This record gives sequence, C-alpha cells and structure tokens, in this order.
Amino acid sequence: MFRPAALTALALVLVACGGPGKDKVADTGGDGPTLLTPSSSQSGTVGTAASVSTAPLPSADPALVALYKRLHAAPELSFEESKTSAILAAELESLGFEVTTGVGQDWVVEKSMKDNGEVLEGVGGYGVVGVFRNGNGPTVLIRTDMDGLPVPEQTGFPFASTVEAKTWTGVESNVMHACGHDVHMTSWVGTARELIARKNKWKGTLVMIAQPAEEIGLGAQAMLADGLFTRFPKPDYNLALHVSAGAPAGTINYSKGFALANVDSVDIKVKGVGGHGAYPHTTKDPILVASHIVVALQSLVSRNTNPQDSAVVTVGSFKSGAKHNIISDEATLLLTVRSYDDKTRAMLLDGITRIAKAEAMAFDAPEPEISIESDYTPATYNDPDTTTRTMKAIGKSIGAANVKEMKPVMGGEDFSQYARTAEKIPSVIFWVGAVEPAKYAAAQEGGPALPSLHSSGFAPDYDPAIATGVEAMTAAAIELFKD
Ligand SMILES: [Zn+2]
Ligand SMILES: [Zn+2]
Repeated sequence: MFRPAALTALALVLVACGGPGKDKVADTGGDGPTLLTPSSSQSGTVGTAASVSTAPLPSADPALVALYKRLHAAPELSFEESKTSAILAAELESLGFEVTTGVGQDWVVEKSMKDNGEVLEGVGGYGVVGVFRNGNGPTVLIRTDMDGLPVPEQTGFPFASTVEAKTWTGVESNVMHACGHDVHMTSWVGTARELIARKNKWKGTLVMIAQPAEEIGLGAQAMLADGLFTRFPKPDYNLALHVSAGAPAGTINYSKGFALANVDSVDIKVKGVGGHGAYPHTTKDPILVASHIVVALQSLVSRNTNPQDSAVVTVGSFKSGAKHNIISDEATLLLTVRSYDDKTRAMLLDGITRIAKAEAMAFDAPEPEISIESDYTPATYNDPDTTTRTMKAIGKSIGAANVKEMKPVMGGEDFSQYARTAEKIPSVIFWVGAVEPAKYAAAQEGGPALPSLHSSGFAPDYDPAIATGVEAMTAAAIELFKD
C-alpha cells in the first residue's frame, strides 16, 4: 500500500546518466565523464526552498527490498549483465510473460570487434524483452537499464558491492550500482507484478524491456538494431524512470519537452613538432596550440549559442609532455559537448573542428586530428501530451504535491533512442526522488552536500524510492492503456 509522503515546496536538482562509449576507469572515478553534476545547492533549481514534511514515507514490498539488496550487492558492468538479466528474465517468466533474452547479442559482438578488436569473456548483448498480451488496446513499453559503473563503493551499506571486474574494453575496476539502476530494475519488477495483479484494470500489450549498457550509451542501439520494434509488438508509448540524487524520496519530478541533453565526445589530437625545451624556435609547441584551442572553444557557448538555448563545451582532459625540458610532439584534448536541439549540436561540433584547425594554422603547426564519436547519445525528448497525461495520473496516485515539473538537465540518457526511430514513438522518462528527506532538508539548509549520481557515496533511500517508482510507473502505464 502506498502512503503519499506529503511533501511541500521542493527545490530540485537532478543529475543524469550515461553518455557515449567511453568507459575508461580513469575517467569515471567519482563522477563519470559524461555526467553533469551540479551540487545540491548550486544550480537547476526550480521552485522555492524546501520544507519537507515528517509524514511517513511509502514502503516497498519486503520481497522487492530483498531483490534490491541482491542486485545492489552484485553489480555488473556495461555489456556484461549476464546474471542480472537472468534474474529479470526469470521474474517476467514467473509472471507469465513471453520472454526473449540475448537481444542485441550480434550487434554487441560486432561493435566490440570493431572498437576493441576482440570480445572479452562474458561480454555480450544481454537485452531482455517480455511481452504480456492482455486483450485489445495500446502497446506500452516500460524500460529499465541494468548496468553498474566502474566505481569502488563507499556507501557503508551492509550489502555494499565488493565486486571487481573488467570493463568490456578490458580495464580492471571495482563495480558499483552508483547510478541507481538497481532501483530502476527493482521498480520495474514491482511494476510488472502490479500490472499483472491489476490486469483487469487495463487492456493492451505490455512490453517490459531490460536494457544493457546504458552507461556507455550503446545498449538501446543494440536492442533496436536487433529488432526491438520489428520482432516484438511495436509500442505506442515508451516509459522509463531514473532515480534523482537531488530530490527527496517519495517525490516524482519531470520535464516536458527536452529532458536530457545531446551528449557528444570529441577527441582532439593537437600535433606539434617536438624538441628541446631550450630551443623552442626549432619546434612547434603543441601545448601552446592546445591552450589557445581550449580558450577559443569557450566562445562557442558565450558568443555562438543563442542565449535562449543551452550548451556546454567542457575540456575534461588535457594531456601532453613528459619532462621539464622537452617540447612534446602532441597534446590530447578530450571534450564533452552538450546541447538540446540538433541545430545547436551541429553548430558546436562544426565550431570545435573549425577552431582546432584554425588555431593550429595560426601557429603554423600540423593539422590536428579531430575525432567525433559517432555513437553519441541524442537528447531525450518527453512528448508533452504524454507527459501531461502520465504526470496527472501519477499525481492522483501519489498525491499531486509530490509531483513537480523541473528544468531539463544537461546529463544524457540513451532512453532517447527509443523515441528517435522512424516511428517517433511518444516517450516519457521521469525522475524518482531517492534522497532521505532529512538529508535533503539538511543540504538545503547549507548542510553536507548530497552525493551525486555516479558518486561512490551515492546511497539511495531505496525503500521509499522503490515504492514510489512502482506506484508511479504503474499509474502511468494504466493511464496510457486507456487509449
Ligand atoms: Zn543512470
Ligand atoms: Zn549513470
């Protein structure tokens, strides 16, 4: 039974998730390379200061809490979700779904051969699709992601992960569910159970999918390439949820229209001519050229982006040189580039290329190598009408005061891919508050900052978050089955 948490005005800050296919451990300690991580008190605020009620929070079914702990203790990295996907497939089978596993396998093998030159043991496409036909009506798809992150856990949970593994590119790491995908999976199982238990309340076809490799922005592509919308009933709607590390448990938050950003990764190899540090006139110093590039890139947001639009160009890595007195041959810049609409994205990527080449030319240095990762994560767009309908239904279910509209975030989510096929399926992703309300209130009053998603200390208030996730997703799905 769901007991609404009666929260009053909220200040909301949300961060988000995966990005394109780079999963080097060095990039992911703490906050991932593709993650926007505003601190709880700095940005993205909608509404007024918080006042959190002490009303009891909802509580999840103990069997779901046990499942959460089991999943949390045994996280698997992107494209390695074999045990996790088996658990989820078994759950759907026990509820009477027609279940297909291994969705995306061929695509993952091909991608791994292309990018890594090999397929490491255990790497595969572990997508799960469950179909439940319940009479004539719309087809509603509900997606969970499954992967953990290469982060050593420091939550202090008694069921904390001690798992060590290799990423699909072969980098050894600890593994943690630091993005709450364990909460997503548990809520997804709970939603499937609820919808089957309440199957006299809706008619249509329910498609439950468990997607691998969200954190590297490739899992949705793998499932789509393996016929998600052709081998299985084509959805009329797609739904997903994500935990929020910046909103209190018991609440749901959403954006209408753009919800998350385009996420592009760009590598710039700035070429120079190396030599002795004491004879710079005989060299072309790539550090100087790269420094000018870094500064000039700032103009893309400040001078080229319409002030009414949003964009980010961050140089997250600048590497060159080995010693005091050697001018090196090259410098490498790694960039994350964020935007919402396609026009702004194209402007940024063109501008980066232009600036890098022009700065090199200005210093008479060789032309730089610029590589823009082709598997970018597109912006996530919440269909406005579907968002309005589902949020109203969720409000009826958990209390309208617990459902808040918020500004979009500059994180990325490959859930976007399901809305960007030729079918243009209306889709909605919403945020499930996962912060203990007392900690949330303390942070609002200047207390300790809340750990962001991807942080080794991200310890969700899992019980009420799962209860709220199940209730909200069930209400949203039942609403969409009404067509
Ligand atoms: Zn995530
Ligand atoms: Zn994430």
